Amino acid sequence: MTNYRPTWAEISLEALTQNVKAFKDYIDKECQLMGVVKADAYGHGLVPCAESMVKAGANRLGVAIMEEAIELRKAGLEVPILVFGYTPKEVVHEAVDYDLTLTVFTEEIIEDVIHAAEEKQKQVNIHIKVDSGMHRIGLKKGGDILQILEKNSSPYVHVEGIFTHFSDADDEDPAYTEQQFHHFLSVVEEVENVHGKIPITHCCNSAATIAFPPMHMDMVRVGVSLYGLYPGEHMKKLISLQQVMSLKTKPIMIKTVYPGEPISYGRSYEPEQPIEVATVPIGYGDGLPRSLSNQGHVVINGQRSPIVGKVCMDQTMIDVSSVVKSSRNAVYTFFGDPKEEHISLQEVADQLQTIHYEITCQISQRVPRKYV
Ligand SMILES: *Cc1c(COP(=O)(O)O)cnc(C)c1O
Repeated sequence: MTNYRPTWAEISLEALTQNVKAFKDYIDKECQLMGVVKADAYGHGLVPCAESMVKAGANRLGVAIMEEAIELRKAGLEVPILVFGYTPKEVVHEAVDYDLTLTVFTEEIIEDVIHAAEEKQKQVNIHIKVDSGMHRIGLKKGGDILQILEKNSSPYVHVEGIFTHFSDADDEDPAYTEQQFHHFLSVVEEVENVHGKIPITHCCNSAATIAFPPMHMDMVRVGVSLYGLYPGEHMKKLISLQQVMSLKTKPIMIKTVYPGEPISYGRSYEPEQPIEVATVPIGYGDGLPRSLSNQGHVVINGQRSPIVGKVCMDQTMIDVSSVVKSSRNAVYTFFGDPKEEHISLQEVADQLQTIHYEITCQISQRVPRKYV
């Protein structure tokens, strides 16, 4: 995308590559690494991130919806791609055309897959989703899975995998994750006893991959931590990761604002003494959270300066009084690599009482991603 204004999200493909390698080292040689790139690679850019991950050693890719998988195929990515979520009946034949692996969690889906595969006389892989305690999608019981598989079988459709998803693997207390894991193990055992061995059993997201190595099984599905973000503080000592995204801008105007001159919509901030205010061309229309109004900071040449007044749709004001001399041509960073003294995404997420996933996903398409 053309970039006329000085606002951009810097994506370090080197950091991403390092993170993939860190996970490859962390898991066993026989265990596969699936790079999860749903939601535009958590806002980092689907295709460039997927390409870097595969180049760095990711064996497979995971997405939430078929549109994302098709975009990857169109970009030339040939590794197996698992679609985690719901695939509507009308597009299952397209999934078969594009060699996508679909998740089966109802009888209807497997019927649709068999229908499309037989019509095209093409081999299709499916993965079965087990609900072990998140209560989102998935089949709870081994018996239910066996019943569906017995009723619906085809030489064209191969049960390549069976998986589940944890709801609380970032909790320091392992009890619920262990309970989910044992539920999953018992379902897998029950299904395999009748159906035969399923080649790829998998259950770990980033948090479980880091915190519970005995649960890795045949493959791990790592999303957020490939982007250098830790699901929990207690995991920092276990693996070393680098934050991939930094959000940057430059000032378009700097002026003095005096007492009695309120700043931005709603007049929520008024200086007590004259201050130097820089206006930057980024706002909530770019995904800069409006809740950072009068709360967030940017880092300018290693020093923090506060956001003053409400974040607008397209612009935001910063009190640069403490760095006024060096602020004119400087880069202002909302969040970046904490090793370079930037504010980490974790800190911003904590401040906003949300999770870092949400912040990177919300950086809008209006903000160009610059790959470095
Ligand atoms: C999003 C997702 C993942 C990755 O989760 P992270 O916490 O980002 O590592 C793995 N598996 C499934 C099914 C998902 O939906």
